[in-house]
Amino acid sequence: MSKSLQVAVIGAGVAGLASARELKREGHRVVVYEKSDQLGGTWVYDPRVESDPLGLDPNREIVHGSLYSSLCTNLPRQLMGFSDYPFEIKKNGEIRTFPSHEEVLQFLNEFARDFGLVELIRFNTEVVRVQRVDSRNDLWMVKSTMSGLIQEETFDAVVVCNGHHTQPRIANIPGIEKWPGKQIHSHNYRVPEPFQDQVVVVIGDSASAHDISGEIAKVAKEVHLSSRSPGVKVSNYDNVGQHSKIECVFDNGEVAFEDGSSVRADIIFHCTGYKFNFPFLETNGIVSVDDNRVGPLYKHVFPPKLAPSLSFVGIPYWVLVFHMMEFQARWVARVLSGKVLLPSEKEMLTDIEKHYQRMEEVGKPKHHTHSLHSDEFEYLDWLAAETGEAKVDEGLKKKYRTIYKVLAKFLADRGRLNFKELVVETGVFEK
Ligand code: FAD
Repeated sequence: MSKSLQVAVIGAGVAGLASARELKREGHRVVVYEKSDQLGGTWVYDPRVESDPLGLDPNREIVHGSLYSSLCTNLPRQLMGFSDYPFEIKKNGEIRTFPSHEEVLQFLNEFARDFGLVELIRFNTEVVRVQRVDSRNDLWMVKSTMSGLIQEETFDAVVVCNGHHTQPRIANIPGIEKWPGKQIHSHNYRVPEPFQDQVVVVIGDSASAHDISGEIAKVAKEVHLSSRSPGVKVSNYDNVGQHSKIECVFDNGEVAFEDGSSVRADIIFHCTGYKFNFPFLETNGIVSVDDNRVGPLYKHVFPPKLAPSLSFVGIPYWVLVFHMMEFQARWVARVLSGKVLLPSEKEMLTDIEKHYQRMEEVGKPKHHTHSLHSDEFEYLDWLAAETGEAKVDEGLKKKYRTIYKVLAKFLADRGRLNFKELVVETGVFEK
């Protein structure tokens, strides 16, 4: 018999919306807590920046979003829909391959409206504590605040969907305490103007690092990109240089790189990613974050000791994010209703251990525990099989693989076209 539970979802970004839809479809009663005044999470552009541009001060007021004003998606829109709800938003009558953040937000608002999710969301309501109150009956207390009003409610299950692009990870730079320049993390980057005539060292080799260095190169005096793989193409701008990792910095403003080069810089810009953070979650140490490994989590979703009443949707990356969240959410919803069974706690823990062991064997660092790079479809197809649904469409897989091929080509030769232009040129992403 199918169970209908009272379920709390924390966050109304893509993960929270996908979870709310699947839980609702499965007949559960859902409350989505959202601390901001609108849905969309990451895709809500917030012009505010934090008082500490590095995001280290524990007393700063936290801004959730990390989008910069000009941001367009780094994946084509065909790879950013749900399995039954494609991303086909038009701007000025045209559907674009790489939409702007405004179009993604519009897509999510339409998704929420079409599946009756908006009415499930409690806006301006921040969850400040989640704690199990009854281990025999698996009851969870969710404490929240809304305009100063504190509320405690109990639920049969909690799905954590609070996102992981808010808490900056910072590069460790020898000598930084005495270095006189400014530092910023990409979380607090919005527009290029503050970089006018500055010499900037950008650390990182992600899509953001490339996008941002290209954008600030238009106004900065010089941009120096420092990355672990400095051989790759970064930009067509003459004032952009490439370097290896930073070796150390000095009190005269000099930044020395491991390749022997050095520059006098005004700003060090960290495009070094984010940390998982669950400040509201109290599990008595059952779930912890260690060097960006959230664990132990069976298939990145269920902590075996607290499963299935506690789950996490949206943790893995380097994957078709929207599809993955949908598939994970469906699995959670069906496990909660009793239609799909989980293995025993011991079996789940053994599976997790095997995953960690495999990582060690291939030399994958701990902080990449949740990167699905090259295993993405194995994972998605496994989730689909678990819920008895069809695997990811072969056409979609082909499209996703095309992205990697284009990326390899783009990084190998410094051509006339940028990455997005090369993607469009393949013709694979035509309507
Ligand atoms: P979020 O979108 O962060 O949503 C979490 C929500 O939880 C937020 O609304 C937040 O307010 C709420 N919340 C957090 N804590 C609490 C609390 N205590 N109480 C109540 N509410 C809370 N993905 C792609 O597929 N394509 C791209 O091109 C792409 N580009 C990106 C570019 C940037 C700069 C960044 C940062 C990310 C990008 N991503 C991209 C990844 C993106 O994060 C995912 O697409 C997706 O939006 C993540 O959704 P989420 O729901 O997990 O988290």
